Amino acid sequence: MTHNAQPTASHFIDGAPAEDTAGAPIDVIYPATGDIIARVHGATPAILERAVASARAAQVDWAARSGAERGRILRRAADLIRARNHDLSVLETLDTGKPYQETSVADAASGADALEYFGGMAATLTGQHIPLGEDWAYTRREPLGLCAGIGAWNYPTQIACWKAAPALACGNAMIFKPSETTPLSALKVAEILTEAGLPAGLFNVVQGMGDVGAALVADPRIDKVSLTGSVPTGRKVYAAAAEGMKHVTMELGGKSPLVIFDDADLESAVSGAILGNFYSSGQVCSNGTRVFVQDGIRPAFLSRLAERVSQAVIGDPMDPDTSFGPLVSARQLEIVESYIARGQSEGARLICGGSRLSRPGYWLAPTVFADVTDDMTIAREEIFGPVMAVLGFSEESEVLARANATAFGLSAGVFTRDLTRAHRMAAGFQAGTCFINSYNDAPVEVPFGGMKLSGVGRENAAAAIEHYSQLKSVFVRMGALEAPY
Ligand code: NAD
Repeated sequence: MTHNAQPTASHFIDGAPAEDTAGAPIDVIYPATGDIIARVHGATPAILERAVASARAAQVDWAARSGAERGRILRRAADLIRARNHDLSVLETLDTGKPYQETSVADAASGADALEYFGGMAATLTGQHIPLGEDWAYTRREPLGLCAGIGAWNYPTQIACWKAAPALACGNAMIFKPSETTPLSALKVAEILTEAGLPAGLFNVVQGMGDVGAALVADPRIDKVSLTGSVPTGRKVYAAAAEGMKHVTMELGGKSPLVIFDDADLESAVSGAILGNFYSSGQVCSNGTRVFVQDGIRPAFLSRLAERVSQAVIGDPMDPDTSFGPLVSARQLEIVESYIARGQSEGARLICGGSRLSRPGYWLAPTVFADVTDDMTIAREEIFGPVMAVLGFSEESEVLARANATAFGLSAGVFTRDLTRAHRMAAGFQAGTCFINSYNDAPVEVPFGGMKLSGVGRENAAAAIEHYSQLKSVFVRMGALEAPY
């Protein structure tokens, strides 16, 4: 069955779809079949100019509105997204290949949560009164101005909303560039925000490859850049933003540890390892891809894991029973396959998976390696695919040091029934988000972001407000002002 997901136009600017076919064509491919389902064009300089000019013009009035007024629009958009969850989830499945079983609960729904949360928070954003004897000062919490959002391809709707919601709540405008691999759903977010009453120009979407992202970052009229992507891209974007002393949020990659102690509940630990490695076919930044399993539980863990992985329902992503989909692209499939080959050549033991599935599209069986050692490539580099590396350990102190022996620091998890050990591990992990007897929860109420190479800044929760606003201090003298001469 072929699908047609062609949008009205490639971009969304100043409240309406916009097109310029002079831009480089980008084919949109349904990963489950390899079929081309749409074509968009990368932004030309003329498109970028329209996007920047309209956003800057619109931002002035938007910042002058009350927080309650801004928030009402965001909450209305959240309601529209929830009402259209089915269609948005189908589109997200077409764009990413992720099973509808996932997209129908994790993508548009998470975007709606962010719009609702920051919509509610908009009216609460205030400065502070600071008494200074008879004089006083106050702070104003002001927007940054025009923010650029640059997205990855694994959670296109969620990423667009996680960036747009706090940015707009604080009175900024945003230009969002989706990943060239998944350009479709951000256009829907823009349409919905407009329908909810967002004034034209405040959320513009421009398509394109890395060069379009780079052009946005370099534009002196952009005040802040929020990137979700890989560490190499993060380095480039952070450096380019530094030229203009721009604010940044960097949500980057990881190679997170998941530590399972002998006393863990076996079924929950296996669930954690499955959720932290195979959800979205392993294409999740926070995945716990280094699974350290203590000596006593390891044999039972591996056999139960293999049993449960064999129960994955691999098939048509639109079928609500399907629980495991394809990788996002041919390129990603090749990258992941090359890591599997490295794992085998470096001596890891293949427990299950390891090869492509013979069907059209970009399918790879969920793969587990045991007997992985810390120096192996598959234990050091981010794979971003359904490849779990199981490592052994005997002592808590040893495993904490090994868990932290990475340049990344996005997430970490521990499974144990020992309460004090769980909190000791969470305190010791060098990671922005830690999980105790769970993995990969990302509710909007909780700050999300990385330590070390995994990023700068936080998304979600009140913490995100700090990254989309700035404080101005105003000093007020009540009496006469004296000077020495
Ligand atoms: P990527 O770094 O290749 O691309 C990310 C985005 O940056 C894309 O939109 C791309 O077009 C753009 N880009 C590329 N070069 C650029 C440049 N020089 N200037 C400006 N923009 C540029 O990442 P990807 O392959 O799309 O996504 C996978 C990566 O994203 C993984 O490393 C994953 O861990 C990470 N990720 C992190 C999070 C998080 O929240 N921490 C979430 C999802 C994905």
